[in-house]
Amino acid sequence: MRRPRLSGNPNRNRLITYGILLAGFLIVFLSAVVTAMGGTSLEEGAMLPLGVRIGMAVLLGGIFFGWVTVRCPHCGHTLSIGGILPQDDCPHCGGRWE
Ligand SMILES: [Zn+2]
Repeated sequence: MRRPRLSGNPNRNRLITYGILLAGFLIVFLSAVVTAMGGTSLEEGAMLPLGVRIGMAVLLGGIFFGWVTVRCPHCGHTLSIGGILPQDDCPHCGGRWE
């Protein structure tokens, strides 16, 4: 049974994860829009625009952050990142948190 690396409220960590993912989506989206307005279609470019690659790196970082931090503080089991509703108990060990 692994100890969670970051203590704290998994609901708060999930919100932080959402913030990172939202920022990543915005970077990808804005980069794509800027690229499109510049007259270069994404399909024509041999390489993805730098901003899109940065945004994808941010998205991967957000997924990793969520995987590491959205865990039960009692048993360390990963909790669902997908649910928007806060959880206050663990479906695996039944532990509760504030
Ligand atoms: Zn648990």
